[in-house]
Amino acid sequence: MQVFKFGGASVRDANGIKNLASVLKLVGSANTLIVVSAMGKTTNAIEIVIKNYFNNKAELQSSIQDVKKYHNQILLDLFTNEKHIVFKKVTLLFEELNVFLKSNKSPDYNFVYDQIIGFGELISTTIINEYLNTIGLKSNWLDVREYIKTDNYYRSANVNWEQTQKQISATFNKSILNITQGFLGSDSNNFTTTLGREGSDYTAAIFAYCLNAEHVTIWKDVPGVLNADPRYFENAQLLNKISYREAIELAFYGASVIHPKTLQPLQRKEIPLYVKSFLHPEQPGTMVAKEMSLEPNIPCFIVKKNQVLIALSSLDFSYIVEENISEIFNLLHVYKMKVHVIQNSAISFSVCVDNVYGNLEVLLQQLKAKFKVMCYNNVSLYTIRHYNKPVVEQLEKDKVVLLKQLTEETMQLICE
Ligand code: ADP
Ligand code: ASP
Ligand code: MG
Repeated sequence: MQVFKFGGASVRDANGIKNLASVLKLVGSANTLIVVSAMGKTTNAIEIVIKNYFNNKAELQSSIQDVKKYHNQILLDLFTNEKHIVFKKVTLLFEELNVFLKSNKSPDYNFVYDQIIGFGELISTTIINEYLNTIGLKSNWLDVREYIKTDNYYRSANVNWEQTQKQISATFNKSILNITQGFLGSDSNNFTTTLGREGSDYTAAIFAYCLNAEHVTIWKDVPGVLNADPRYFENAQLLNKISYREAIELAFYGASVIHPKTLQPLQRKEIPLYVKSFLHPEQPGTMVAKEMSLEPNIPCFIVKKNQVLIALSSLDFSYIVEENISEIFNLLHVYKMKVHVIQNSAISFSVCVDNVYGNLEVLLQQLKAKFKVMCYNNVSLYTIRHYNKPVVEQLEKDKVVLLKQLTEETMQLICE
């Protein structure tokens, strides 16, 4: 049993979908589950639909039209026969979306978000499933919400492993080619939930765990896990082999090539993870497995842009002690700030956060009541694993370093 994950980039147009089919032909499609994301940037486009639904009704229909037009072009490029059932199926999904928008009474943004956002994955898997069957690759479409059961923490739901295992063991047919949606699950009332943005890698890992798969492959637009994001670093090099631990560290610090939650279930059952190029499927890519030493053993760079550095100091030169720190963390938790670095001294405390939910202003107001607050917006957080002097000097060159922190293996720099 093998599990594949194809992300948005791999299926962003008709050629991408044809390529997905060639990958399956090349590497085999028996005993296979493919987990697929929404096509291209569809999830971002549906986020606009959701924003319009709440705040700008006048633009609502035109934002839905954008999503429709994009998929319609892909349909026309893939299917020559306009009477093909797939046109009807996709139309029905858009109708379902409109029915929800008309009938919904809930003012809960996160709940509504999850009921709407998943249409991206439902549409992509419907199109790809029909295409595969049309070209003779027999595949079976599954609604992932019948398998992955979660709590109702909408937009970042937690998997109920016991129930998920039960659902998968009960009805999943391992011997055929199955296709299902990444990112989605459902709660105990069968409302759609999501596992967090970019969560489809995690979906693949959940299935692999519950099915005792032999391996998981995530197909990407890069040759594998590189020692840096090629969008920001020149000459990024392929890592041939890395351990689960190294991959967990890289993902934790923000190497967005693997969703951070993906590795833990795989590591628990020692299921190897391959990260490969969908454009060069014959190449080996990166293998993530147990006790693998980093090969080649080189420094790895991770950058997180648009971070916020908040530097706090006491108003009266008193020490910042446990009580103050717990108060600060409570506020960070309440305002859902993702904390990446903390550093403290006797009278100061600095924290680098990601303002994902837009709560920065209200957080700062609260902090200002108790502390002297300095806030640096739009800073970059660089993490270097396995750093050495030359690479640090190179990175620091022409940057203003606001904060630096190091352990034996990892250096973090916050720069303006
Ligand atoms: P998907 O199509 O599966 O959603 P993503 O776009 O989320 O794929 O992930 C692939 C992208 O991750 C690459 O295009 C690359 O820019 C970025 N990336 C960030 N860090 C790394 C890294 N260390 N190695 C390879 N790619 C990386
Ligand atoms: N489509 C979702 C997103 O863009 C999930 C994923 O691609 O993994 O966040
Ligand atoms: Mg993605």
